[in-house]
Amino acid sequence: MQYEYIIINKNDLDKALIEYPNTLAEAGFWLIVKAAEKAKEKRLRLEEERLTDLEVRTKRFWSKTVPVGDCIYWTGATDDYGVGVVSSFGKAPRYAWMLEHGDIPDGMIISNTCNNAACVKLEHLQCKWRGNNSA
Ligand SMILES: [Zn+2]
Repeated sequence: MQYEYIIINKNDLDKALIEYPNTLAEAGFWLIVKAAEKAKEKRLRLEEERLTDLEVRTKRFWSKTVPVGDCIYWTGATDDYGVGVVSSFGKAPRYAWMLEHGDIPDGMIISNTCNNAACVKLEHLQCKWRGNNSA
């Protein structure tokens, strides 16, 4: 079994003794719960720190989508045509494609094969030459 050691500060100890003055066991239990919470917070923080910037942005992006039928819709802001917009970047389908494949080559555009403007599903996005009308 693996134990995690957390230093509980004096404020926590004082609070435990005020809130649970009846028995030392009660106060002790409260402190253990508190320590477990702190350990979990620390673990989550370390996990977040391990993620690269790209992973964080990717996670954030897909957390704002929802599956609809065979598509995946962007649930954030949209432009006048219903195309998703990622603030400080631009079109959500372009953003989705770039998160997965990297920069879009010059002269190429991202188009939607399913004709649902809000869709950002990677399988429904294609990178093609600008001006090519065939899907
Ligand atoms: Zn789609």
